Amino acid sequence: MQVLYALLLSSSLAGLALWKRALTPGGTTLAWALCLLITAYGGGAAFAILAVTLLGTVAADRFAGERTDPYAVRRKSGSRDAVRVLCNVGVAGCAMLLYGITGWKGFLLAYAGVMAESLADSLASKLGPLSKSPPRDIITLKPIPAGLSGGVSLVGTLSELLGAAVVALVFSLGTGNPKALLTVTLAGFLGVTFDSVLGSRAQAKYLCTVCGMVTERETHCGEDTRLASGLRWLNNDAVNFLSNLFSLMLALLLAI
Ligand SMILES: [Zn+2]
Repeated sequence: MQVLYALLLSSSLAGLALWKRALTPGGTTLAWALCLLITAYGGGAAFAILAVTLLGTVAADRFAGERTDPYAVRRKSGSRDAVRVLCNVGVAGCAMLLYGITGWKGFLLAYAGVMAESLADSLASKLGPLSKSPPRDIITLKPIPAGLSGGVSLVGTLSELLGAAVVALVFSLGTGNPKALLTVTLAGFLGVTFDSVLGSRAQAKYLCTVCGMVTERETHCGEDTRLASGLRWLNNDAVNFLSNLFSLMLALLLAI
């Protein structure tokens, strides 16, 4: 019965993604399979977390609009393909697969921790740039352009806490486990802090040779930019994947 119900829910979500052109056909197929796996093994609470994360991201995006990237420093995301889906939901899917195989509740908690990190990161990256004062780099504390990875602001940090807490609340209510509220919030919040540290120190940043702006784009002002700091292969998708992995490990440790 749960499989049938999972099939129905994931197919509606995939249909919506195709209709809204939010994902490429390849990305949609992978997202459908991951959603099916997550709902079939994790049930209603797991699906509710997935839905809240997606809806929260879309709502924050609509609310912030162009203000999310006022200096055009972020890479253009374009259509979301399978690699992108895998980087953003792959770790959560693995946690759920391990839960399905072993039946150990720690993996279910880890799934929620990873999703808490994802929503925290999405909300902060969309709402953080709305802060009146410029964000500061999480390590050097120097002011940096809004929208650039590694920056922190009060609005951004509060958005992170909100995102992690919402997922934790849905999980606690859905599974009848009040203790998970703190564990999941913590796993999500520390994971997104790790995301900022990687964003500041390791993610590829480029210098525009025309306007002198530090950017995550490989072209700016119509010219190729040059690598200024970080690792060329470590883009935002890779950072998201590693931060998800960090939250997964942390939640597993907390579960033990
Ligand atoms: Zn430029």
